[in-house]
Order: sequence, then C-alpha cells, then structure tokens
Amino acid sequence: MVSYPVITLKPGKEKSVLQGHLWIFSGAVHSKPDELTEGDIVQVHSANGQFLGVGHYYPGSIMIRMLTSKPQYINLSFWQEKIHQAYRVRKYLGIVDKPNTNAYRLIHAEGDNIPGLIVDVYANNIVLQIQLKGTAKHTSDIVEVLRNIYPDVESIYVMYSYEEGKNEYLLGQTKQDKTIIQENGHLFYVDWENGQKTGFFIDQRENRKWIAEYCQNKNVLNAFSYSGAFSVYALRAGANLVHSVDSAKKAITTCEANIELNFGKTDKHQAVLADCFDYLKTIDDQYDVIILDPPAFAKHLHSVKKACMGYKQINLQAMRRIRKEGILATFSCSQVIDKELFRKIIFSAAVDSGRKVQIIHQCTQPADHPVNIYHPESEYLKGLILYVE
Ligand code: SAH
Repeated sequence: MVSYPVITLKPGKEKSVLQGHLWIFSGAVHSKPDELTEGDIVQVHSANGQFLGVGHYYPGSIMIRMLTSKPQYINLSFWQEKIHQAYRVRKYLGIVDKPNTNAYRLIHAEGDNIPGLIVDVYANNIVLQIQLKGTAKHTSDIVEVLRNIYPDVESIYVMYSYEEGKNEYLLGQTKQDKTIIQENGHLFYVDWENGQKTGFFIDQRENRKWIAEYCQNKNVLNAFSYSGAFSVYALRAGANLVHSVDSAKKAITTCEANIELNFGKTDKHQAVLADCFDYLKTIDDQYDVIILDPPAFAKHLHSVKKACMGYKQINLQAMRRIRKEGILATFSCSQVIDKELFRKIIFSAAVDSGRKVQIIHQCTQPADHPVNIYHPESEYLKGLILYVE
C-alpha cells in the first residue's frame, strides 16, 4: 500500500475509473483532505474503501488525473516503467528505427496513460511538453529515464505549457536553425523554441503521404501552411505549382526555408502572408488540390458553435472554387469537435456549395499519437480527403 492523502469518491463513481478512464471530475468526489494543493499526488478510494489508484490533484473541474491503478509510489521506477512501455510500443510498431523518418512522438499524454506529459523526438533532440504542475515535480526523473533510453541525445528542451514563458534546456543548448529532421525522406527545420506545438506537426505525417498521391501536375493550395510540410510533399510529388498561405510571418519564413532546404530556389512555390478566410474568397478556380489544416478553432465546449461556423466557412469557400475533379483535404484538430460532427459540417458545406462530393479517405492521427480506448478524449485529429466532381 502507499501512503498518499486519500480522496474518496461518491458511491458508483468508481465505475469509469475501474474501466480505465483517467479523469475524475469534481462532481464525483465525496471527500478530500483540506490541505491539498495543485499537483499533489493522491490515492483514490471508492465509497466503500476500495483502492482505485494514484493520481494528481487539481482544484478544478477535472479534479484528479490518474497515473496508475496500482498501489505504487510516483518515483523513478514508476517513470521507468511508464516511459519504457511507450518506447517499447513505438519500437514494436517500427516507428523508432524508420530509415527515412527520425521525428516521432514518444509519449502522447492520456493516449499513453500518462496525463500531463508529451514527449517528441526530433533526431537527437527531445522536446517535453509538461502540461500540468504535478508532472513538473517529476521532470528530473523523467529526464533521467529519457537519457537512459537515448544515450546519444544532444539536447532536451522542456516546455511548461501550464505556465507561460517558463521553458528551459535541461541538456545541451539551442541549435535551432541547424536542427533538421527527416519525415518520409523530406527535410524540415524544427524550431521548438519559437514554433507551434513542440515545433512541428508530427501528427500529419501519414496524411501528408496520402495527399501527395494526388498532387502530380496539379495546382495546389496549402492553406494554414505553418512549416509548409504539405507543400514540400506536394512539390516532391510533382505538383505544377504550390501556394502556401499562413497569417503568421514566422510561419512563412519557416515555410520558405523548408522549401529551399528540399528544392533550392524554385519558382513552383510561393508563400503568401494572408488570412485564409479572406484568401479563399479570392482564389477563383486556380487550384486542383486544396489542403485546409487550420488550428483548433474550438479549444473548449463553449466555443464549439463558433468553431463549426469557421470550419463550414472555409470548406464552403474551397468547395465553391476548387477546379472540377478537385481534391479537397480538410482537417480539424479540435478535440471537442468529434469526427461525426466534423463530417456533418463538411456535409453542410457540400450541400451549400452545390458540388458533388465523395469521401475518398478518412484521416486520423498516426500510431505514435495513440487513442486510449478507455479515454476517448485522446482522439483529436480528423480529416477527410474529398473528391469534388
Ligand atoms: N498544416 C500545418 C499545420 C497548421 S497549424 C503543418 O502541416 O505543419 C495552423 C496554422 O494556421 C498556423 O501556422 C497559424 O499561424 C495559421 N493560422 C491561424 N489562423 C489563420 C488564419 N486565419 N489565416 C491563415 N493562417 C492562420
């Protein structure tokens, strides 16, 4: 047994915990010690005193995030067990030793049964995103385990995403503009210090391959382009021309650098600094392939309605203007918009556009971003590749 402070649940509220769901909402809690502070480790008991596991406490609506269902202390050996398990899975799936890809997600928070922790590997660099104050207390144990698994690691950068601006290197130093990763043989600069997410959207790796299949001899619009990764794939696949559009100047600079890294100077690509909502209204019928990969329009349930309108608007504009026999690849990474709702939004845009639309691929997140079946919230990325007649 362990000796952490005890939180007791209301009768019947143990059911989802026993099934492996990792969040316990405040409404399920019957009693807790008064002196708990954010991020404290607690043990959770059912109303009749059954031990259910160990987790982090937070004074919010998600009150406990479960770390283990075993009576164990959260120490170095706990982290060894958890991180090695995630590594074993990636190794087993062939993700760790891929010949042309050296960027992957090692730990996908709840998807890997580790709430509050994301770990991305970029060649010989590791970027941690610590999402919870409780997880931050264990950073040195986590880093020790990572250094053991990756003895050749050159830098470890930690982003504390629960607290603005508190990021640091725990190993090595910045060599940002020289860090180049390979993804399916394509090259990219990764900027974890100033970029979005941990620097790169690893989660689109498989979907980029699908879309590239349709780009040969085509005019391609990559809207919300960020690093320009979809554009690099499209050009490599033989596109006639590719336009990358993003409203962030930094994204445009990175995109241009990535194009040059792969192709040198080329007049087949143009990066455009613009708001995609406006840009899409001006495109006439110049594109055969349009990629829409916007940021999460909804981060919370209360913004779902507005987000739906945003998704519908960009998809409607694209469907109205895409060339005959066009390919529209459309994505949403809003976790609160599930794939059924997303499909309804696209349906509604298709109806309003008056075009005939067929779904040819249904996209999701790759194997290194697994969905924990007991914790469906770990599913967030969905996409549809559409044939527009
Ligand atoms: N497709 C990219 C990831 C896109 S992330 C990839 O494969 O890596 C979303 C991008 O949308 C960000 O770069 C952000 O700067 C950009 N963005 C957000 N709102 C925008 C808007 N209204 N118009 C254009 N770009 C926007």
